[in-house]
This record gives sequence, structure tokens and C-alpha cells, in this order.
Amino acid sequence: MTQQYATDEFDKNHLWHPYTNIMNPLPAYKVRRAEGCMIELENGQQLIDGMSSWWCTIHGYNHPVLNAAVTGQISSMSHVMFGGLTHEPAIALGKILIDITPQSLNKIFYTDSGSVAVEAALKMAVQYWVAQNRVNKTNFVTIRSGYHGDTWNAMSVCDPITGMHRIFGNTLPLRYFVEAPQIGFDETWDENDIAPLAQLIRTHEDELAGLILEPIVQGAGGMRFYHPEYLRRAAQLCKENNILLLVDEIATGFGRTGKLFACEHAAVEPDILCIGKALTGGYMTLSAVITSTTIAETISNGSPGTFMHGPTFMANPLACAVALASIKLLLSTDWKTKIKSIEAQLTRSLAPAKHFPQVENVRVLGAIAVIEMKKTVAMASIQQRFIEEGVWVRPFGKLVYIMPPFIISTEELNRLTQALLRVVKEIK
Ligand SMILES: *Cc1c(COP(=O)(O)O)cnc(C)c1O
Repeated sequence: MTQQYATDEFDKNHLWHPYTNIMNPLPAYKVRRAEGCMIELENGQQLIDGMSSWWCTIHGYNHPVLNAAVTGQISSMSHVMFGGLTHEPAIALGKILIDITPQSLNKIFYTDSGSVAVEAALKMAVQYWVAQNRVNKTNFVTIRSGYHGDTWNAMSVCDPITGMHRIFGNTLPLRYFVEAPQIGFDETWDENDIAPLAQLIRTHEDELAGLILEPIVQGAGGMRFYHPEYLRRAAQLCKENNILLLVDEIATGFGRTGKLFACEHAAVEPDILCIGKALTGGYMTLSAVITSTTIAETISNGSPGTFMHGPTFMANPLACAVALASIKLLLSTDWKTKIKSIEAQLTRSLAPAKHFPQVENVRVLGAIAVIEMKKTVAMASIQQRFIEEGVWVRPFGKLVYIMPPFIISTEELNRLTQALLRVVKEIK
């Protein structure tokens, strides 16, 4: 059933889409509405969503509970500035966040997107050391294959090859990179895996403010799942060598990996935690940086005595209200069992792909499945094939991956994985 998709002319001529060439854009399919796990195109075709709109829509689209949270809040106020004012949505969300995040994290800084959360987290780490007159401790170490966002400092800690270093080169701050963890989530731990990080931290401790990494799952930098022992050892190294551990849970937070936060796989408590993406259930943009009382108080005891950041839309009440509703909704369900069954189904149904000659590796963790191809996939044609199959899957590079909404039914997930197998099998 090949159908023609008329590209919207205005869109094509005037709107920039993520990472696209404005002269020669890939097709952008126009969506009419979305509900549950279904995205409906303008021509009426229904697509099963395999992407959760980039890790966000954990409860699916157009959810009555989240809709009610937004409409309920909008009639009292959609926004007020957070400088000198506060409101119940920010307070109620703060309470639940402190409750569900690692125990030592008690001070919340609301930001408005993932990248900005990373920027604020990096600034927090630097201010923490400056406040103690450790003015040389301003740099960061990270692991290769990471992704932390598209703003300046966030870019500087993304993988230097898959990230944007090539283009921005020496305009970016120079960070320390160590080889990405090589031991997979389920493999046997090998002490050598942590050696490069240990070596680097010990050598450069006096100029490092912190280590920043994505816990367990590296997302947009390569969709890699690494061993929990790596994270445990990294946390230990940070403690022993007096550098802060900044954990970016923007993609992994809120159940995606089978734990509420991925650092729980290693029982690690970071010094600074970034959350975003699924925080609002995918309704709107909101992120947060959460840190310990000690770090917050150290910054406040230093000069100038304030944390130097303050987004205009900080703690937007609409976003806070829907985030609160989304977290309550998640916690009110047996999400752990649901993720386990999604994981089991993904593992079972994608296993045949392991034997396809064009496939390098198939891996599953929680509600994330990755088929790594041997070669880079041709985006335009594979995109169209997925549409023809009635699913929404957007690969990048060699990676064909899905992370469906948690509410996906067995039947919908089956249609999604079968389509995935069919399309992947055709790739030359
Ligand atoms: C998406 C993402 C970011 C950036 O978030 P934006 O909201 O796109 O700015 C940062 N870190 C990780 C791990 C992400 O997945």
C-alpha cells in the first residue's frame, strides 16, 4: 500500500527541522492528531509510535489525565515569573521529585530543556569549586559516545566524533574524553574497563570540576548499554579524587531502563542529577537539576553567594502541573512489571534479527530496543518503508531503534517489531 505524501510547501520552504538540510530536506510527514500509541497523518494513515517522540511520551498521546492537568492549571495561571514569586505546581512537583530521586539530592533548580539543565549542572559544579577557592577545578571529563544536548557546553561534552566537534572545533571548550565503556550491561565485568577513566581522573583531579555521563544507557551518542559496575566504580573514583559526579538522566529517567532512574542499577547517588524529556510525559518542555544540600550550601556560602542562572520560563506552572500529573500517573501503575514485559517481548520478537547478515548487533534494555546495522542506513528510503508498514521509527546512522510509550499493548508492540524485522531484512 504505497501512498503519496504531499509535502507541505510552506513547511518545506520555510521551516527548519532537526538536523536537516534546508535546501534538500527529507520529507516531514504532517501529523493531524495523536492518541495513545497512534500518530495519525494528515491523509488518515495511522502509525504505531516506536519513538515516544524522543523518549518523552511514556503515557502515550492525548492522555485524559495529563490533558486534565493542563486544562486545570491553565484556568488559574499558565505562567508567572519565578523570581520573587512561587506557586503550588512548582512546590508539589518539587516534593515528589525529592521523594523519588536519590536520597542525598534535596535542592532543585528548574530549567526549561535538557540542554539547559546540562548547562546549569556544569555551572553548578564549577561554582561549587570556585566557592572553595579551588579556581583551577573548572574542567570536565566524560566518556566517549555520550550525548548531552546541543547548546555550547553541552556540545563540548558530547562524543567528539558523533557529536558536533568537527564543525565547531576549537570554539568549544576542550574537555577530557576517555574511551566509552566496552563491557555491555549483561556481560561479565572486567576491571580493565574502568582503567582509562581511573587513570585520567587521578592525573587531572586538580583541574576537574566533575565527571559527566549518562548512566547505563548512552542515548543519541550511540545507543549503548554499559555495565552497572562501570558506573559504580566511576562514582567511587569521583569520591576518592574529589570531583563531582554529574549524572544526565534526561533520556533514562522515569522508568525507561526498568528502574525509575538508571543510576539505581548501580545503587549510585550522583552529586548533581539532570532530568528532562519524560518529566512532563512529553507534553511540554521542562527539565530540572537536582543536587545535594552540601553542594547548594557551598555555592551559597561562596561569592557572589547565588547560583548564577535564571531562565525566563523557570518552573513554568503549566509544565510543572503536567509533570506532577505524569509522575503520579506513572507511580500509580505497575510500571515495573509493564517495562519487564515490554523488555521480554522486545527480546523475544527481535531475536531473529541477530541472524540477518546486515545486522551487527541486537540489544534490549527495559523499553529500549536497538538493532545496530553493519552499514549506515539510507534515511529517506527506510523512513518511507516504515510509514508504509504503519509504524513510526526514525533511525540514525547505523542504529534502528525503538523506545515505545509504556502504554503500548502486546498487539501494537508485535506489529511494531514485525514491521521492524521486515524493513531491516530488506536493507542491503
Ligand atoms: C535529549 C537529551 C539532552 C538534551 O535535551 P534537550 O531537551 O533536547 O535540550 C541531554 N542529555 C541527554 C542524555 C538527552 O537524551
